[in-house]
Amino acid sequence: MERRDVVIVGSGPAGAATALGLAARAPELAARSVLLEKARHPRDKTCAGGVIPKGVQLLQHLDVPLAIPQARVDRARVTLPGGAALAIDGNDLCRVVRRRELDALLAWTARDRGVELREEERVTHVARDGAGVRVETSRRTYWTPVVVGADGSGSLVRRALIGASGVTARAVMCDVPVAATSWTGYATGRYEFDFSACATGLRGYRWAFPCVVDAVPHVNVGVYALPPVDGARLRAELALELGLLGAAPVGWQAFPIHAYVGPPRLAAPHALLVGDAAGVDPLMGEGISFALEYGLLAADALCQAHAVGDWSFRGYARTVERGPLGRKLRRLSLATRLFYGPRHRVWFRLAAASRRAQAVGLAWYNGVDGWDRRSALAALAALCARRSL
Ligand SMILES: Cc1cc2nc3c(=O)[nH]c(=O)nc-3n(C[C@H](O)[C@H](O)[C@H](O)COP(=O)(O)OP(=O)(O)OC[C@H]3O[C@@H](n4cnc5c(N)ncnc54)[C@H](O)[C@@H]3O)c2cc1C
Repeated sequence: MERRDVVIVGSGPAGAATALGLAARAPELAARSVLLEKARHPRDKTCAGGVIPKGVQLLQHLDVPLAIPQARVDRARVTLPGGAALAIDGNDLCRVVRRRELDALLAWTARDRGVELREEERVTHVARDGAGVRVETSRRTYWTPVVVGADGSGSLVRRALIGASGVTARAVMCDVPVAATSWTGYATGRYEFDFSACATGLRGYRWAFPCVVDAVPHVNVGVYALPPVDGARLRAELALELGLLGAAPVGWQAFPIHAYVGPPRLAAPHALLVGDAAGVDPLMGEGISFALEYGLLAADALCQAHAVGDWSFRGYARTVERGPLGRKLRRLSLATRLFYGPRHRVWFRLAAASRRAQAVGLAWYNGVDGWDRRSALAALAALCARRSL
């Protein structure tokens, strides 16, 4: 049995950020840790690849320049239930990348900074064993005082050591060459969100994002929805969106997203969760920036646990819940109940009423501005002014 001070299961953005955080804070601990990955980078991950400004900031904080092909987004089009559309002009609203490139960049940087990356090694079983955890993989067995579940929405670590929480949202998507569509969004740096299906019971939206696949301009088209939803409805919405973009039907990929809907179980003795395994944005299904942020908080918690020998990780759960990450997830959870609830038309109408309120909300969502009392009051004042016109 091989002993490691930290075993990180999964080398997506959450696992890689945990490893990068460890390498920056405690190089010796990082050198005694291992990052296990069932696939081999560069590997595909079903994802639209939209990195919001908060994610870009976190990458800068991790000292990982986003030096991979990307499409920059400067404007948005949002279609409301009922069909009215809003045009929003912004500045650097999102960078759309391909996940095989982003995840390889992160995992390889973590490896270069001293965390051993073992690929094509699937974790098959985890169980508490004395004062730690036994981790069995397709290649060997490890013993560790702490395992980090960075193994995505279906997390084996969560199921084995921590327990269920959150809800499973679903998303389908495909990439289509822009030349095979009548879409103008790529040329104008625009992404599109269409909530019109909320009017017929979908708790989600369709999207179209500009992206670059093998140096060729593409549009990534997809549908996100919270339960209850079935595959047939998702595929029908995808076909509808492709039709609106003037594209012929193509093959699609689907993947679950483990979304936060209330205080999640984030840790148990000798185990903690990050990224999709822990729970991400239920409103839009955005998870890359959350994965990076969880990873950094987990790295702090791991250093602290090793320094004092307390493996309960109660402090990690508290820090996440009470800090900016937990606050944002709680507000998104509330927004989910409002915008996808029975009175959704009222909330969409309110959100559409004032440009100032939209700008405040977008800046908060993108993480470029805090949601404090002042910005909330500014948004409210803008709404009231608009309604009194
Ligand atoms: C269709 C779709 C579109 C999306 N679009 C966006 C978007 O535009 N922007 C955004 O921010 N988010 C988006 N998301 C969400 C985003 O993809 C996730 O939130 C994000 O990938 C979470 O990162 P993670 O590192 O936690 O998990 P993952 O990216 O899922 O990484 C988990 C890693 O663990 C590995 N692994 C799993 N099990 C094991 C095991 N047993 N042993 C070893 N390794 C294992 C996997 O191979 C993988 O590499 C989208 C999701 C979907 C499904």
